[in-house]
Amino acid sequence: MQSDNPSPSASCGPSDIGGFGGMTRRTMIAGAFGTAAAMMAGRANTAEGDSTAIWDGHVHLAGVEGTMEQRADRLLEHADRLGIQRLVVFLGALGGHDPKPEEVRQRNDEVLKAIARSPDRILGFVYLSPKYPKESLEEFDRCVRDGPMVGVKLWVAMRCHEPALDPIVRRAAELGAPILQHTFFRRGGNLPGESDPSHLAALAARHPGASFICAHTGADWELGIRAIRASANIYAETGGFDPCAGLVEMAIRELGPDRVIFGSDAGGRSFASQLAKVVSADLPEPARRLVLGENLRRILRPILRRKGIKT
Ligand SMILES: [Zn+2]
Repeated sequence: MQSDNPSPSASCGPSDIGGFGGMTRRTMIAGAFGTAAAMMAGRANTAEGDSTAIWDGHVHLAGVEGTMEQRADRLLEHADRLGIQRLVVFLGALGGHDPKPEEVRQRNDEVLKAIARSPDRILGFVYLSPKYPKESLEEFDRCVRDGPMVGVKLWVAMRCHEPALDPIVRRAAELGAPILQHTFFRRGGNLPGESDPSHLAALAARHPGASFICAHTGADWELGIRAIRASANIYAETGGFDPCAGLVEMAIRELGPDRVIFGSDAGGRSFASQLAKVVSADLPEPARRLVLGENLRRILRPILRRKGIKT
């Protein structure tokens, strides 16, 4: 079991990635999710431009076994059970919190293999460490400018308000690649390089032309939503912590329906437990569709089109 949430005490293990505790899919849909999920199920492989397709903005190749290609297959198999059409994958099989450039390249090579396995279903964000600015720009060019990846993933090597991030953000903004930053409010204090949403708000204020995704919305989401509320270029992401009621409703109330994105953090978390946060939320259906896919598709559409990847 691995998650990029460095406090994974309640993460679901590999055998539960597509499940929901001990429930079968049929029980889950009939009971916990109701008709909304039943309507969404079975929509993988739908036609281009389907506004009801579910896109998951936060997936790793950890928590499942085998080669990277086998891991991609396994994740897609589970995604299919819940009608999730596309997966944004990054950070490969995870690894250390403070990686050297060689390890960063290894993680990105893992993601490149998953993309090659299923280019119509798997999108990739390049993982970078701002501690190595020169190597980060080279890796961005290798994977995004000259490769198939379409965004940037930053984790816990360095807090994201530091000026060292500025060249990375400028390069990403030039190509329309969004930046997904891990954020956490951790009881007892964050890791030395771990950002909370207020650090991301500081970075976003310096780069109004860039798009940022606030991964986990700080996990303590009532604080996280408030911290990013004034930052129009930051999107709240829903994945990677225990399912709980009220998250999506508050995010939409405070940020608007266009600024909330579904992410699961699979395979450290199950698709089902994370999808439940959105599917069970008390929302108008148009807002639910924005969160489940339309918002992420809108953010990525320009770079996907430039690369010839179907939107
Ligand atoms: Zn993650």
